[in-house]
Amino acid sequence: MKEFDYIIIGGGCAGLSLAYELETHKKLKDKTLAIIEPRQEYKKDKTWSFWKMEPHNFDDCVKKSWENFSINIPGNTNHLECKNYPYQSIDSGLFYEKINNVLKENKNISFLKDLKEINSKNSFIFNSVPTIKKNHLNLWQHFCGVEIETKSDFFDEGIFNLMDFDCEQRESVHFFYTLPYSKNKALVETTWLSKMNDNSQKDYDKQIKDYIEKHLNLKNYKITYKEEGAIPLFYPLYEKEGNKINIGTAGGMTRLSTGYTFLNIQEHSRYIRENIENIYNTKKYEISKKYQFLDEIFLRVLNKHPEKMSNIFFKMFKAPPKTVIKFLSNKSNFFEDLTIIFKMPKWTFIRALFY
Ligand SMILES: Cc1cc2nc3c(=O)[nH]c(=O)nc-3n(C[C@H](O)[C@H](O)[C@H](O)COP(=O)(O)OP(=O)(O)OC[C@H]3O[C@@H](n4cnc5c(N)ncnc54)[C@H](O)[C@@H]3O)c2cc1C
Repeated sequence: MKEFDYIIIGGGCAGLSLAYELETHKKLKDKTLAIIEPRQEYKKDKTWSFWKMEPHNFDDCVKKSWENFSINIPGNTNHLECKNYPYQSIDSGLFYEKINNVLKENKNISFLKDLKEINSKNSFIFNSVPTIKKNHLNLWQHFCGVEIETKSDFFDEGIFNLMDFDCEQRESVHFFYTLPYSKNKALVETTWLSKMNDNSQKDYDKQIKDYIEKHLNLKNYKITYKEEGAIPLFYPLYEKEGNKINIGTAGGMTRLSTGYTFLNIQEHSRYIRENIENIYNTKKYEISKKYQFLDEIFLRVLNKHPEKMSNIFFKMFKAPPKTVIKFLSNKSNFFEDLTIIFKMPKWTFIRALFY
């Protein structure tokens, strides 16, 4: 059976980002890599968005970038600027194509469908397939988005809507998210933060249709693409093994209060590449303990008081946008953390320390 120096299990966002980082830094010149990926073909299946805090490898896969955004609750809208940290949306189709075109040039890299095809005993393994134990108490960010096209100009492409809470909450946390790619194209997404214990919130198509037609007042449009997903707002199981580390969602790269993962994956890939020669002894990379702690408290409040969350998010964005963005992107300093913390309802959060 064939053996490889490195194995990446799962050729999705984290697996391919890592392979690309290793390949473009010439770390696979004398090493072999197997990428285990069961999918039959790569096509656009996700839109990854984030505030660009630092350079990354995929500027050429950015579909659109914005310097203004809004957040609203019923009767109140806040317009914000993000010139310092523009919000970018990456088209996963372009991302897969770019990376696969580079990887296929290196004969040391093989794509396989199943780990059973090779002998993995002597390899170092980067695993991006999460082990998720069913637990009815776990919180998820689950959502469905559609790209729509209108005949005549409708959207203001200069500003995206991060969260619109002016919608049914059903004793949970629910908002719409709209990314206008141009005057007549946009992604409209319905998003829930909940335990997903039943399917009652999953009438996504109806939610989106009602929002577009009754809330945005748009009647003439066609749907050109759809994506659906659920991001765990908890860390998947992580078993420490000498020759294996987890990456991506499986590796705890999701910021639990927001679901943002893409840029953390890029940072993790750089960290692995910098340490690849000594990978067996490299310290585990993780999102700073400070954010893990603050997110834990935040999620306790969300769990106990879903009805308060729209106001909490709205208030958070009353802080200077640069500060909030840095906080949500794990890049804030102590004073910026305090600015955010002081925007939160004090007693609700203090009580949450003792739940
Ligand atoms: C629809 C969607 C939209 C998202 N949008 C954003 C966003 O806007 N911003 C952001 O920061 N984050 C976003 N996320 C969260 C996160 O960035 C993505 O989930 C990202 O794809 C995580 O990368 P990953 O490599 O961990 O998982 P994936 O990209 O899902 O890759 C895992 C790969 O493993 C493969 N696989 C599955 N089973 C096996 C197996 N048994 N053996 C081998 N391979 C297997 C899968 O086919 C897949 O290719 C989004 C998530 C989803 C689902």
